[in-house]
Amino acid sequence: MAQCTSCEAIFLSRADLGLLIEQENDWHLSQGPRTQPIPRIKPGMTPPPDLAPAKEARSYLDELFG
Ligand SMILES: [Zn+2]
Repeated sequence: MAQCTSCEAIFLSRADLGLLIEQENDWHLSQGPRTQPIPRIKPGMTPPPDLAPAKEARSYLDELFG
């Protein structure tokens, strides 16, 4: 982990980020059912329905040019 001295941004290595996620999930487990751990990101995951791009054309022009 490194911190920028001018803007205080924190830079994490991929390994540090993984550790942080593990610790976050452990914390959620220790908090009981009120909070949810971060879901594991896996290849082939689909976004939640409200974030998925619309598959149907929104208009006739979209159908022609979309
Ligand atoms: Zn900076």
